[in-house]
Amino acid sequence: MIIKPKVRGFICTTAHPEGCKVHVQEQIDYVKAHKPAATGPKNVLIIGCSNGYGLASRISAAFGHGAKTLGVMFEKEPTERRPASAGWYNTKAFEAEAEKEGLYAKSLNADAFSDDAKAQVIDVIKNEMGGQVDLVVYSLGAPRRTDPETGQTYASSLKAIGEPVTRKSLNTDTKQVGEFTLDPATDEEIHNTIKVMGGEDWERWIDQLSEAGVLAEGVKSTAYSYIGKDLTWPIYGGATIGRAKQDVDRASVAINEKLKKELNGEANVSVLKAVVTQSSSAIPVMPLYLSILIRVMKERGTNEGCIEQVHGLLTDQLYGSGDRTLDDQGRIRMDLNELDSDVQAEVEAIWNQVNSDNVDELTDFAEYQKEFFKLFGFGFDEVDYEKDVDPIV
Ligand code: NAD
Repeated sequence: MIIKPKVRGFICTTAHPEGCKVHVQEQIDYVKAHKPAATGPKNVLIIGCSNGYGLASRISAAFGHGAKTLGVMFEKEPTERRPASAGWYNTKAFEAEAEKEGLYAKSLNADAFSDDAKAQVIDVIKNEMGGQVDLVVYSLGAPRRTDPETGQTYASSLKAIGEPVTRKSLNTDTKQVGEFTLDPATDEEIHNTIKVMGGEDWERWIDQLSEAGVLAEGVKSTAYSYIGKDLTWPIYGGATIGRAKQDVDRASVAINEKLKKELNGEANVSVLKAVVTQSSSAIPVMPLYLSILIRVMKERGTNEGCIEQVHGLLTDQLYGSGDRTLDDQGRIRMDLNELDSDVQAEVEAIWNQVNSDNVDELTDFAEYQKEFFKLFGFGFDEVDYEKDVDPIV
C-alpha cells in the first residue's frame, strides 16, 4: 500500500509505519545522547503510552533509565486495506527497539478508563514484571469516558466558562487567519469534561493498583497538565478543560497523601509546555499560538518538544538530585520557559499583528506543520513515501 497523508480538519486519518519508526527512533537517539546521571525508575506503567507526552515518557524510562515498561493505549489496528493509527505504529517501533536492547516492553490496547484494563495491567505486573511498579505516569488525552461505576458515558467539551469567547485562529488547511467563538458551557458540560479529563480515573487506577499490592515501596506517580497564560487562558486554563485540570490537582493531593501513608510514595502534577500533539492540535487556539511560540522560543534556543520536556522531568525533577522546580501548589513546573514574561510579550505582539497575508513571515507555521505531519510518520527524508509498504506491522 502507498500511504499518503489524508488530513481532515485537525487530524490526519492515515499514518505511515516507516515514518512513525523514524519518529520514535529520533526520540530514542535523543535520550541515549542525554543519559541520566542518577538512578531512575525500574518498572514503569504508562497510561496513554503511544503518542505525545506518554510515548516520550516511555522512551525516557526505557532507553534513558533501562526500565521495564508496561503501556496502555487506545489505538486502531491495521487491516489489509487501512493503515493503523500512528500510536499503533509508534508502539510497534518502540517494542522492536526495546527488544533489541533486551528491555521488557508490553503494551495493552485497551480502554484505560475501564476496570477491565486495570485488571489486565495488574495481572501483567504480577506475572511478568516482578510484581510491582515504581512509577505510574498518567498521560491520557481522551474525548470521552465511560464511568465503570455507572456505565454512563461522558463526553468532554471545549467550551468557555461564563461568557462566550472570541479568539483569533489559524485554519491549518487553508492557512487563513480568522476568528472562532467558544460558547459558554452549561454546568453539565463542565461536569462531563471533569469526568473525562479530571483526576477521578487517575485515583481509580492508584486505588486498584494499591489494593492489588502492585505498587512498590516509594512509588511515584505523576499526571500531566497544562496551564498557559493570557493568550490561551480563555480557551484552556479558564475554560472547561482548565476545570478538569483543577480536578487533576485535587486528585494529586489525595493520591499523594495516600501513597505517602501507605508506601512512603508520592504523587505530583507535572505542568508541561505546549507542544504539537494530536490532542493539542484539536484545541482551536493552539495551532496559531504554537506557530508563534515555536518561532519565539527557537530564536531564544529554548524550544523543546515532548522528549526534551519529559526526559528533563524524569531525569532532573522526579529522579534528580537537586531541588525540584515546584510552584506553591507543589506542582512540578516544566513550562517556565514558555511562560517567561518576555516570551509571552513577544508572542502576544506577533499575535496582535498576524493575519492571513503575513502568517509565514511572522510565525513558524512551517515548523508547526512539519511537527504535525511527523506525528503521523510523514515528512521524513529517510522514508520513501512512493514505496509500497505493508500496513500490517
Ligand atoms: P496525545 O493525543 O498525543 O496522546 C494521548 C494518549 O492517550 C495516546 O497514547 C492514546 O492512545 C491514549 N488514550 C486516549 N484515550 C485512551 C483510552 N480511553 N484508553 C487508553 N489510552 C487512551 O496527548 P498529549 O498531548 O501527549 O497529552 C497527554 C497529557 O499531557 C494530557 O493530560 C495533556 O493535557 C497533557 N499536556 C499536553 C500538552 C500539549 O501541548 N500537548 C501540554 C501540557 C500537558
